[in-house]
Amino acid sequence: MKRPPFDYTDGDESGPARGQQADYEEFEATELYCPKCGQAVPVRKSLLLILPEGDKYEYRCRQCGSTVGDKMDKSGQFYGILKT
Ligand SMILES: [Zn+2]
Repeated sequence: MKRPPFDYTDGDESGPARGQQADYEEFEATELYCPKCGQAVPVRKSLLLILPEGDKYEYRCRQCGSTVGDKMDKSGQFYGILKT
């Protein structure tokens, strides 16, 4: 019996920050669901803010331009050395 690998297609990243060390590959969202278009659309990533804990990016629908998501890119190493 084979089990298909789980496919995490949940793009919601609004959960609490995780204190994991970044040893995994960061996934890059290229398609997100756009409520206006009513479907998953290709998105454009743009830098919104640069914060001490990381860079904040925003994803915009390429078809209608509305914001469909955002994301924090954590500079984990930099942050890690400051804490002892
Ligand atoms: Zn759209």
